[in-house]
Amino acid sequence: MASVTYEHVTKRYRDTTAVHDLNITVEDGEFLVFVGPSGCGKTTSLRMLAGLEEVSAGSIYIGDRRVNDVPPKDRDIAMVFQSYALYPHMTVAENMAFGLKLRGLPKAEIESRVRGVAKRLGIEHLLHRKPKELSGGQRQRVAVGRAIVRNPAVFLMDEPLSNLDAKLRVQARAEISKLHMQLGTTFIYVTHDQVEAMTMGNRIAVMKDGRLQQVDTPHTLYTRPANLFVAGFIGSPAMNFFQAKLREQEGTLWVDTGAFRLPIPPHQAEPYWQYVGKSVIFGIRPENIHDPQYQPPGIQPARVRAKVSVAEQMGSEVILHLSAADPEGILAEQEFVARVDPRTELRVNQWAEVVFDMDRFHLFDPQTEERLGSTQALFS
Ligand code: ATP
Repeated sequence: MASVTYEHVTKRYRDTTAVHDLNITVEDGEFLVFVGPSGCGKTTSLRMLAGLEEVSAGSIYIGDRRVNDVPPKDRDIAMVFQSYALYPHMTVAENMAFGLKLRGLPKAEIESRVRGVAKRLGIEHLLHRKPKELSGGQRQRVAVGRAIVRNPAVFLMDEPLSNLDAKLRVQARAEISKLHMQLGTTFIYVTHDQVEAMTMGNRIAVMKDGRLQQVDTPHTLYTRPANLFVAGFIGSPAMNFFQAKLREQEGTLWVDTGAFRLPIPPHQAEPYWQYVGKSVIFGIRPENIHDPQYQPPGIQPARVRAKVSVAEQMGSEVILHLSAADPEGILAEQEFVARVDPRTELRVNQWAEVVFDMDRFHLFDPQTEERLGSTQALFS
């Protein structure tokens, strides 16, 4: 077991900087997920740690050993690739045993380790098969098994579930989380899928254009995203954003979008008074907009009039697409999405009032895109 540290790590290719000055410490035994859109530098970050890419500047440590110049095989890591990279001409048992054989472990020990791990992963009955005789889910387990038998200090996983269908992915996600808890080893996992990141990571490192945007627990990323990008990336359906101005009227602070105005409750307003008269971006998640008929108790309701353009029945909830027009009809309509109670009677083309929970909003600076009042927890 070991911690991992990236210290001012940069990776440059000829005309691209894939990773800019990455600083992050992954604690011993932690499950850290790198997440971000395609091309954000997450795979490159993992491959530098694995020793498959050289580091252009900065240092990477596994435990307290600087590994920049240590060959991959001596780094005490095991990696599961998206493609699984199983040897097609070898059986499952031979694939799993391969790394141990190279290291010269005694035959009896190899056999016992392979059998033990195969049993734990439920693939014992497949040990004699070749990869082509396995389903996608079984291949994925073999790839994980091959990593586990090596008993490494750190597990690296690069999109190991992306070849599985949706149902299997949910199951495999839970299996990997369980495995992490049982082994207690440091896991570093790369995915573009924010749901995977949220459900599996102890902490999540969100990247964009080679730069780390925020690293924190799933709960903090969700409730206090550091900037507009993280706010829009984490959560599905995505957070709604509105261009707005902050105004003061009779001692109350208001968010004015042009189409509608929302009062900021006094107990939330303190960090924002300094922005009166300024443009802001107001953010609210779809689940914090309610059908007033079914609004939960204890929220800070503010009513907004809007027309329902689409209603998606999901069974456990209804996703409403709404548009709010300003009273004079001058501004373009403001589109937004609400996740409401499935018993809602709101229908397409109907004008309705929905309720924004003003205890659960976010404000961002339109220029810097940073969160405003970020030191203040808006809600827990
Ligand atoms: P994906 O999810 O698509 O794999 P990613 O976030 O993992 O994306 P990286 O593969 O780390 O992104 O790539 C980061 C940037 O570095 C991209 O702009 C990519 O084009 C560039 N890049 C990656 N490998 C090389 C290479 N060998 N030569 C030149 N540029 C590269």
